[in-house]
Amino acid sequence: MLKVEGLESRYGPIIAVRAVSLEVREGELVALIGANGAGKSTTLNSIAGVVKPSRGRILFFGEPITGRTPEEIARRGVALVPENRGIFPSLTVMENLRLGAYLRRDSAVVQTDLDSLFERFPILADRANQRAGTLSGGEQQQLAIGRALLSRPRLLMLDEPSLGLAPALVDRMFHLIKQLSDDGVTVLLVEQNVTRTIEIAHRVYLMRTGRIEAGGTPDEVRTQVDIAGVYLGDRRDGAV
Ligand code: ATP
Repeated sequence: MLKVEGLESRYGPIIAVRAVSLEVREGELVALIGANGAGKSTTLNSIAGVVKPSRGRILFFGEPITGRTPEEIARRGVALVPENRGIFPSLTVMENLRLGAYLRRDSAVVQTDLDSLFERFPILADRANQRAGTLSGGEQQQLAIGRALLSRPRLLMLDEPSLGLAPALVDRMFHLIKQLSDDGVTVLLVEQNVTRTIEIAHRVYLMRTGRIEAGGTPDEVRTQVDIAGVYLGDRRDGAV
């Protein structure tokens, strides 16, 4: 479904991502893990077209999307929930959700999707007419994910969805991502909470200073990383 080949992305003279290659197959939950500044967000933003790659190719269902605009890439079915969640605080929950469906022409089906979204996220139904900026962090994250789902993405990319959430909410967030994956949503997840991520991911890539350092099933990566003697160590919160 998604193939990234030899991706390089820079911010001026800073090379944030070097020679990154990765793949996501239909139905998979693939995670990109690594320390702060490893280049995970830049990789997602490059796939979404927010950052223009300086080298390499990105293929989505075999079609090159490298360097296309974020809107063109979204139209092809790639949705990104950014680290800052990207919701509009002064708009209501419902208005934010409707923005997620703005590229769709099947408005009758959008209503059905909204109904099932409210079943998945009952809090969003309760708060439908409330301004998004007044929601709690966990509720805002649900709104951001709900909005992305309303675009009916073929690939859902989540950038650190557990960031800033209280521990109980972190559990619920990982449970939710697992449920989405079980329901058939293809997910590319960026996370620093390694322990929880490798519990739910089908495959994992470990990034360090702009490069992919290891990749494979959670078990394979655990082994490779243990050999290197770094990262997935003893931090009790599971962060690297
Ligand atoms: P984090 O978890 O902290 O977001 P990350 O793995 O997602 O980390 P990136 O945000 O992709 O890493 O950052 C990779 C590198 O690029 C870092 O060195 C960072 O300082 C740099 N960088 C990121 N965004 C910019 C920017 N807008 N301008 C300049 N440098 C940037």
